[in-house]
Amino acid sequence: MDKIKLYNSLSRGKEEFIPIKAGEAGIYTCGPTVYDFAHIGNLRAYIFADTLVRVLKFNGLKAKWVMNITDVDDKTIAGSKKKFPDLGPMEALKRYTEMYEKYFWEDLERLNIPRPDRTPRATETIPEMLELVGALIEKSFAYEKDGSVYFNIKKYAEKYSYGQLADLDLSRMKSGVRVSADEYEKEDVNDFALWKAAKEGEPAWDSPWGRGRPGWHIECSAMSEKELGLPFDIHTGGVDLKFPHHEDELAQSAAGRDCQKPVNYWMHNEHLLVDNKKMSKSLGNFYTLRDLEEKAMPDGRQGVNPLAFRFLCLQTHYRSKMNFTWESLEAAKKGLNHLRNQVRALTPHLEAELPSGSSASKCREFEEKFLAAANDDLNMPRALAAAQELLKSGIPSEEKLATILHFDEVLGLNLAEAGKQEEIPEEIKALAEKREAARQAKNWAESDALREKIRSLGYEIEDTDKGYSLRKK
Ligand code: AMP
Ligand code: ZN
Repeated sequence: MDKIKLYNSLSRGKEEFIPIKAGEAGIYTCGPTVYDFAHIGNLRAYIFADTLVRVLKFNGLKAKWVMNITDVDDKTIAGSKKKFPDLGPMEALKRYTEMYEKYFWEDLERLNIPRPDRTPRATETIPEMLELVGALIEKSFAYEKDGSVYFNIKKYAEKYSYGQLADLDLSRMKSGVRVSADEYEKEDVNDFALWKAAKEGEPAWDSPWGRGRPGWHIECSAMSEKELGLPFDIHTGGVDLKFPHHEDELAQSAAGRDCQKPVNYWMHNEHLLVDNKKMSKSLGNFYTLRDLEEKAMPDGRQGVNPLAFRFLCLQTHYRSKMNFTWESLEAAKKGLNHLRNQVRALTPHLEAELPSGSSASKCREFEEKFLAAANDDLNMPRALAAAQELLKSGIPSEEKLATILHFDEVLGLNLAEAGKQEEIPEEIKALAEKREAARQAKNWAESDALREKIRSLGYEIEDTDKGYSLRKK
């Protein structure tokens, strides 16, 4: 097998990927907090994770991809209360998060991101969270205070290295202070909440420490362990999750299970920016996929196919910041159309038997280039360049088509569809309908004349069992 190199945030360098179990890879991706539509910055994070999984599979690995749904946290609770003030807190949370989870899967589908193999919800993993919190208390890495449970950082730091992932300067930390919020600054690092005592009017579950709800970090520790066991291979998320979320996840799993290295590779995508600032809900500078798809933008611009956004993301390495502009999206739309047209031009062969696998000899040079780029920490800009070189080469169409479709297993741009779906102009469709009517009326002369007319306009009409079909000549 070819070497796959991945940048590991933990070692701050590229490392060869060596799976725990030969031939298999377990990947955990921090999924969405379903309190609103995902913005396209969030979606960049999932395009990155999908690309990773695709590359692992392209290399012949069996991948198990887990993505959780964060359906209980500060934000989902606040949103559900506001949206459904008349419902009980549990029912409101369920209704609210189900709605945004559904939109989320729709977004992924539009971006050609397959559903991960496992998609656990936090609210359905409460027993495992309670068990892990209990284990942490038993080992004295956590303590209860007023119905909440906190992680004891000082105790942890005696045995493990807190701050190893986020590269924290522990001397600047305040100590002995507790924090209940899920998100906080590096300077505020202190004992964080594993379990939060119930507040009036909020969803709550029974626990040995009274009714309450989990902290965000324990959710991911419990769900990843449940689905993948410990240690597992790869954990992904955006760079903003490195601290405190991933640092705390690492600490909980390590201390709770006596496991120095619960995750072998931590991978983080850089941010999508707008006007050079992180796209985020809190800054209000965000767009959703629906915004991109809207036919008429406020300035009259045409909406785009979501795959143009995927294509745009692939043009920037996942570890580089990417500044989003409408101009760059327009350019990606044109670029993708061009690519689809190039594939379409090869399509007479689409239905033909494709050479199996990737071994068509003349294509090997391009295959190797593409794979080397993909395996070099998912260098998709270089992989796309290899795909372009292939398309420009003098290789016979049939092999070219097979190879580009093979590359598309990684790119995920639905290029096979591009070949199948020819855009037939309305005028041609109308002529075909007229011919069909003539045929039905057994008016053969008119039917033949119309077929000739359609031909002269560059299209071929064929009669099949199910009616007729049209294609460009
Ligand atoms: P959330 O739903 O807020 O938990 O975020 C989902 C994912 O999106 C996480 O992996 C975040 O790190 C990631 N993320 C949030 N904002 C951005 C952004 N502007 N660019 C790229 N990834 C982001
Ligand atoms: Zn997470």
